[in-house]
Amino acid sequence: MSRFKSVEEDYGKPLKPERLNEMIQRVTGWALLNGVQKTITGTEFPERIEPMPITLFPSILPADVLRKAKSLQTSFQTLIYKVANDHEFMKECFSGLLDADVFTKQLWEIYEKVTKEGPTQEVSVITTRNDFMMESTEEDGAKQDCKQVEINTIAAGGGGDANSLLNVHRYSLSLHDIPFKEEQLPENNPKDGLAQGLVKAWQLYKNNRAVILFVVDIPEPGTPDQRWLERGVFCLDRSIKVIYRTFPQLIMQTSFGENKELIVDGTEVAVVYYRYGFVPRHYPTNAEFKLRLDIERSRAIKCPTVAVHLAGCKKVQQVLTEPGVLERFIDDTEVIKDIRSTFVGLYRLDAKDSSKIITQAIQTPEKFVLKPQREGGGNNLFGDDLRNYLEKIKESSERSAWILMDRIQATRHRNRLIRAGLGPECRNVVSELGIYGVHISTPSLELENFECGHSMRTKPEEANEGGLCNGLAGLDTPFLV
Ligand code: ADP
Ligand code: MG
Repeated sequence: MSRFKSVEEDYGKPLKPERLNEMIQRVTGWALLNGVQKTITGTEFPERIEPMPITLFPSILPADVLRKAKSLQTSFQTLIYKVANDHEFMKECFSGLLDADVFTKQLWEIYEKVTKEGPTQEVSVITTRNDFMMESTEEDGAKQDCKQVEINTIAAGGGGDANSLLNVHRYSLSLHDIPFKEEQLPENNPKDGLAQGLVKAWQLYKNNRAVILFVVDIPEPGTPDQRWLERGVFCLDRSIKVIYRTFPQLIMQTSFGENKELIVDGTEVAVVYYRYGFVPRHYPTNAEFKLRLDIERSRAIKCPTVAVHLAGCKKVQQVLTEPGVLERFIDDTEVIKDIRSTFVGLYRLDAKDSSKIITQAIQTPEKFVLKPQREGGGNNLFGDDLRNYLEKIKESSERSAWILMDRIQATRHRNRLIRAGLGPECRNVVSELGIYGVHISTPSLELENFECGHSMRTKPEEANEGGLCNGLAGLDTPFLV
């Protein structure tokens, strides 16, 4: 079989070994110059930065794949909003797994409480990143289709420096004399769209003195990504203040006004933007759950509400693939067909006939991914881990907390990862494409629904999960062909 394609080898010429170090140095310099950076934590200084792991060159992606993934964004966002507001459907999805998943149960209890009490804030704002991997429909990778990995409805990061990275990759191509047309690396600026969503939500709150609250961790690798978004807000309206607070700070500083206003440190909050609060370790005690409930009950506009957070769970994703379920939420049969074409097989483990798929996964674990209701990476099981764990839970009710998913056989291509904890040699890699968007709605009226750009992450073909911050993947840019 012929080798996989790369921009360097197929659109330019292989880099000479003696040029490699200089290329890396200059491209890394541009990454820093343009703000493609992450925070180093755990050092003696409160905060220091270093360049993000990136690919040296952009990666080939068929233009129609990007077009298709983008075109589905608004439909996916409406779908998520409708799911989150369909209490009966939410119960159908979650009731079977709550006893097996304490964390999801605690979020669910917050959701149940506020659903019973009725809304204090009609406006919902969601910022999403819909993740896809590309599967080849032909041997040589010339024809590809996008398959959904998951849609992120809370803390969807990585949109901050996509625009800067585009400029870094335009630079690396030029430096290595690889010709390209403007439309092959099109303008792309997710952060401005996401910021526009936050600003629009802030305007809907109608109090010029109120702030946007970013709920964050102490400085972490993703901190610069959050600042990009703040910068987006600042560029749109300098009168809007963004404040950053951690859960422990909020527990100390939060109070509530007469009309359920959320007050932090004496300042009213218009919009709560969560970049935190999506994994159990963010809730070490009951105080964090109490805080989440209190915020949920307040008048502030939540990005996202706990309902939308739950609607982004893998369990919902699995149920949406079952026959007739998309039809419950979408009338347009073409849209249903297009959305469905991005689905791979997803399987519940709590059905009467689940033993069949469990046996299949135990026999061929390389064809599946086992997923719990968690976000943020590092939670899924692959290969031997998947088999061993399934063996352990196959007879127990614990299995209802998990779903099985067909492993996407991602199209392989070639690129160099730099600063990713691996050597910079040209290697076989696979990419994941994320599409960003904003959805703002009240129960009676959809106010905004738009797609606002993309990002790409690339990892070695053999990696199960590729984290940017754990050094297993690099940020990338699609090179459209
Ligand atoms: P999380 O919410 O933790 O990010 P994901 O569903 O996005 O969970 O999975 C994490 C990573 O695992 C993905 O970014 C991808 O690299 C890999 N992965 C997930 N699902 C699949 C799949 N079906 N096929 C191949 N790789 C997958
Ligand atoms: Mg993910």
